[in-house]
Amino acid sequence: MEIVETIADLRARLHADRAAGRTVGFVPTMGYLHAGHVSLIDAAVAADDRTVVSIFVNPLQFAPGEDLADYPRDLAADTAACAAAGVDYVFVPDLAEMYPRPVETVVTVPTVAAPLEGVHRPSHFAGVATVVAKLFAIVGPCRAYFGAKDWQQVAVVRRLVADLSFPVEVVACPIVRESDGLALSSRNVYLTEEERRQAPALRRALDAGLALANAGETDAAAVEAAMADALAAAPAGTIDYVAAVQADSLLVDGPLHDDIRLLVAVRFSKARLIDNDGARIPRRGPDDRGALSSAP
Ligand code: AMP
Repeated sequence: MEIVETIADLRARLHADRAAGRTVGFVPTMGYLHAGHVSLIDAAVAADDRTVVSIFVNPLQFAPGEDLADYPRDLAADTAACAAAGVDYVFVPDLAEMYPRPVETVVTVPTVAAPLEGVHRPSHFAGVATVVAKLFAIVGPCRAYFGAKDWQQVAVVRRLVADLSFPVEVVACPIVRESDGLALSSRNVYLTEEERRQAPALRRALDAGLALANAGETDAAAVEAAMADALAAAPAGTIDYVAAVQADSLLVDGPLHDDIRLLVAVRFSKARLIDNDGARIPRRGPDDRGALSSAP
């Protein structure tokens, strides 16, 4: 495994790999790697001939007052995890390598970025889209692996790849969880003991919403109310949002139908946690319609 610090060095190595007919898998991260990141790496190692993991805490995606300065870092543990997982290149550019001058060119995906996270972190996805576009320009043709934990981020990245014709295939990987249901996150280290005890309520809220949706509930507000009720088990947290939306648009266009996504964001004293899961609203069969039309 090589630790690569410059754009020119990474480009040269990947150019040689592709010239030799090797495919490239790319896993962008902000480091402090956990089993969720490793699941993306495993997918890349399994599918591609060369795997690149980038570790870069991207200041553009943090708003003033967010946790940029405190974001957890452990490069030694990260490189050990990458080596153990079979990574070929760990790309660890410093700030001056990525942004030698103030950034003038910004990528925005305003419609996809607007709801949910966009309401609470209005500048976040422009920072994500800009660094992801830059990383794609550096890495070149590849499969890029992202976690479904950041569901809206995947939607933003898919749209930017389509709109800007990046030679990148986006692969979304399932959410990895602790045994009590808490989704793994680098930010979980911020939780106090009591908050950690309450945090699985996010998973319980998704379960409550899924139970209703799977039973055929099509009123987004009713599903969201059940989710909010379940979050009463986490009184240390403040709800940023609970949402039941169409999985593709992340919006509600009338009664819920077909593939939907339930999403939740909760702020604890220092950690802000997000989670999501999907469901499919059962289609009513002819018998159901008959039953409804013959009802009094
Ligand atoms: P981050 O380092 O937080 O920017 O995350 C890097 C990538 O890992 C993103 O694509 C995340 O969606 C993904 N990721 C983070 N946590 C998980 C998890 N619990 N399960 C699966 N993927 C995850």
